Amino acid sequence: MVRHDYIGSIGTAVSPAGGSNGMGRTATHEVGHWLGLRHIWGDQTCGSDGVSDTPVHQAANAGCPSFPKNNTCSNPGANGEMYTNYMDYTNGGCQNIFTLGQKAIFDATLTSITVRKNLIQTANLTATGVNNNPPNVCSPIADFAANEYMICAGTPVVFTDGSWNGTPTQWDWTFAGGSPAQSGAQNPTVTYSAPGVYDVTLTVTNSQGNSSTTKQGIVRVSSTTAEDINWIFVDGFEQENEPFANRWIIVNSSGNNYKWDRFTGSGFNSWYSAKMTNYGNATGDLDELISPSFKLNNIPSPTLKFKVAYAQTSTSSTDMLKVFLSSDCGKTWTVRYSKSGAALSTTSISGNPFTPSNNGQWREESVSIPSSIANKPNVRIKFALTSGGGNNLYIDDINISSPTGINDQAIADNLGLNIFPNPSAGDVTVYFNLLNKARTDIRLYDIVGKEITPVYTGNLQGGYNQFTISRAQVPASGVYLLQVMVDGNRFTKRIIFTE
Ligand SMILES: [Zn+2]
Repeated sequence: MVRHDYIGSIGTAVSPAGGSNGMGRTATHEVGHWLGLRHIWGDQTCGSDGVSDTPVHQAANAGCPSFPKNNTCSNPGANGEMYTNYMDYTNGGCQNIFTLGQKAIFDATLTSITVRKNLIQTANLTATGVNNNPPNVCSPIADFAANEYMICAGTPVVFTDGSWNGTPTQWDWTFAGGSPAQSGAQNPTVTYSAPGVYDVTLTVTNSQGNSSTTKQGIVRVSSTTAEDINWIFVDGFEQENEPFANRWIIVNSSGNNYKWDRFTGSGFNSWYSAKMTNYGNATGDLDELISPSFKLNNIPSPTLKFKVAYAQTSTSSTDMLKVFLSSDCGKTWTVRYSKSGAALSTTSISGNPFTPSNNGQWREESVSIPSSIANKPNVRIKFALTSGGGNNLYIDDINISSPTGINDQAIADNLGLNIFPNPSAGDVTVYFNLLNKARTDIRLYDIVGKEITPVYTGNLQGGYNQFTISRAQVPASGVYLLQVMVDGNRFTKRIIFTE
């Protein structure tokens, strides 16, 4: 019998090289005994294992000695003890050899020892299904991987067949948006010229059947210029119209229920934030939240700031938040911030699911941006939480700005929000100026904050923009509030509708 965590190197058997069951090598050692070998030190001081080409050992070794491991036996080997032999007691990361002399004992055991030689008799091989002649062919099960999952347009991606169960004789790939769009190669290279999120399908076939798998949205191709964001990047998660998952990329590779999402319960000075539901999550689970791409190269000395709220569930919570930046469409990331456990926490320990209840439970963090990224026109931010038995984590008010120049006031000064006529008995026209292309959301609210009508949501070009609000959409005369959100910055102005 072999216990499941002492054999192989996958599943429960994954163990460190120096661990007690070291990488499944315990099983290798025991099979060595089963096929006729003794311990390499012969189970006595400077003893013999009866093998001609193993050196004399003084005693069992543990851990992994450094070379050469000499001894004081009367006939030591020229190179010291062979502590890498499977029949020593060294750890799994150290062991890597049976000698030819040991192999000869295996052969002799299998051909001459009655209880062992039955193992390789034809009748036994046939009865146990090992006699694979003619070979048993199984139908393949399709699987594959890519060398890149986030790239800039024009970057080639190499797909590698990982099909299993049976060996395919035919591969049929389909690459939506890729060139080539189809391939019969086992490991094709594909180029994507247009930004988008693309599916890949692989069908594999052999004489016993076929199998097909589609990985949806496996390749995300970005433009080399910023997607939709002004030279200033702000996100307080206040936008309500566009689904959070359209604007932000949520990576939940484990597919479990613990992931990033927009939270409509609370934020810093607001009702909205981004939440990583982490209470109850499995230790080691990694979840990522990736921003849209934005321009940094027009911002002098840009800095990244954000608000974070997080509680430990106990002093042993080790949840780790890292913040990365990428200037190559997400292909490579540079870590710029890392905090975990007590250093990450912003409030007292809580054994219940954490939701921030006041601004004092938030902390502002600053992240420096290296010059190699600060001059790029296409930058993304990634927030990555590795769970460590703790509690929920919230992010809000993500803000890239410059200490020396452009700031929120610059947008306000340049916006020139104007409403005419005001007061008005009929339709009104809203005018404003955008410095650059920007995400814009315009809505009309009544004086108690109830939404009356949306006016516009989407990307607007830089320059003057105007929209008309029809009097027919306003239920009664009175004071109303027009809200214009530009890249997450909120501007409001009163409108008075008269009879
Ligand atoms: Zn042993």
